[in-house]
Amino acid sequence: VTRAHLDRIAAEDGALGAYLFVDDDAALARAAEIDASGAAGTGLAGIPVALKDVFVTEGVPTTSGSRILEGWRPPYSATVATRLQEAGTVLLGKTNMDEFAMGSSTENSAYRPTRNPWDHDRIPGGSSGGSSAAVAGRLAPLALGTDTGGSIRQPAAVTGLVGHKPTYGSVSRYGLIAFSSSLDQAGPMARTVMDAALLHEAIGGHDPRDSTSIDAPVPTVVEAARRGATGDLAGLRVGVVRELGGEGAREGYEQGVLDRFAEAVALLEAAGAEVREVTCPSFGLALPAYYLIAPSEASSNLARFEGMRFGIRVGDDGSRDVDEVMALTREQGFGPEVKRRIILGTYALSAGYYDAYYGQAQKVRTLITRDFTAAFDGGVDVLVSPTSPTVAWSIGARVDDPLAMYAADLCTLPASLAGVPAISVPCGLSDGLPVGLQVMAPALADDRCYRVAAAVE
Ligand code: GLN
Repeated sequence: VTRAHLDRIAAEDGALGAYLFVDDDAALARAAEIDASGAAGTGLAGIPVALKDVFVTEGVPTTSGSRILEGWRPPYSATVATRLQEAGTVLLGKTNMDEFAMGSSTENSAYRPTRNPWDHDRIPGGSSGGSSAAVAGRLAPLALGTDTGGSIRQPAAVTGLVGHKPTYGSVSRYGLIAFSSSLDQAGPMARTVMDAALLHEAIGGHDPRDSTSIDAPVPTVVEAARRGATGDLAGLRVGVVRELGGEGAREGYEQGVLDRFAEAVALLEAAGAEVREVTCPSFGLALPAYYLIAPSEASSNLARFEGMRFGIRVGDDGSRDVDEVMALTREQGFGPEVKRRIILGTYALSAGYYDAYYGQAQKVRTLITRDFTAAFDGGVDVLVSPTSPTVAWSIGARVDDPLAMYAADLCTLPASLAGVPAISVPCGLSDGLPVGLQVMAPALADDRCYRVAAAVE
């Protein structure tokens, strides 16, 4: 199985650009080890998996899509990588991504863009676009991504995959290169709901090395996927979010996406679910709140990249002092979007502006969380919306327009800010390109996402 995928990578990845690093010999040696152990065939043993390059992997180059980490080989592995190792999976390689996970198209990678296997002139989504292209293009059966504001769900949606952002705190962030720590969450990307569920159970669960890790059992998502696959949703109460593509909030949504969404809702009803419209008045403020909170946390997290401890160092020839070397390293090591976020975040956090920007954004975050609580306490089990307002757009179409790029996150940001689980599952095509249905559930009720997704699949 590993060899078959390495052959696919050799044949296709020149065009796709899904991977930043592949070591055939190491992967084949690992596969041979699993074969010899006799474990292959139990659970995920022997299954190759691709990891987004945001996860540190001991001895294996890890860049987070940035020049500033070029050549860095971490001395330790992320908890999720260790858990996958323990489950007997084979690491196929590290996948391309927007630099430090900032973006929605993978065009912000410092190395190269990734293409959508459905149409090579289109983006594969982002920031986990290397993972989505690898799985959708059959260059990996499974991949891990990370989702801060939509970076698992949106690339899954635009490449026809299942992608799940677990409850914040339910999958370890240890060894995940931090973008926005209060939002970052790792999760599975796969071609079926059951594949995603199996991968989720392998990586989830408490980790004492992550201070925000929840000490609770992993939800039984495999069982939920099995239950949902019967197609019976009798008794399930579904809320259609008015503010996310519902009546009166359709600006920016493609008609084909709205049509597929309406059909998916009809399908849920046909499966026995009770569907009603729900209003979440603060969801419309998620975008501005996110683009203050995430850059603020990024400006703090990225301070560690100063050219001394990791990756590249520029201008250290004895003629400059340490501040000049740090400045030169950052000037050349960071790309334009990363610089934009650092500047935005530093500004929003500065004395005198904190209350006006960051403080306000945190209040909006609380209001969004309350909208979810009101909906779930008010009698719905899950909320649904389109995952992305549009299908995959053409490469280059939004690179010069950051606000157009940010608009791709319209539907995914509320669940990110509230820390609740959300899954994207394919729900048909528009103009020959995949559309995703998003299913959101209360914290720690990830199993509901899988149940509904399996019924739609
Ligand atoms: N597109 C969003 C951003 O650029 C989300 C990215 C993510 O989830 N990592 O910040």
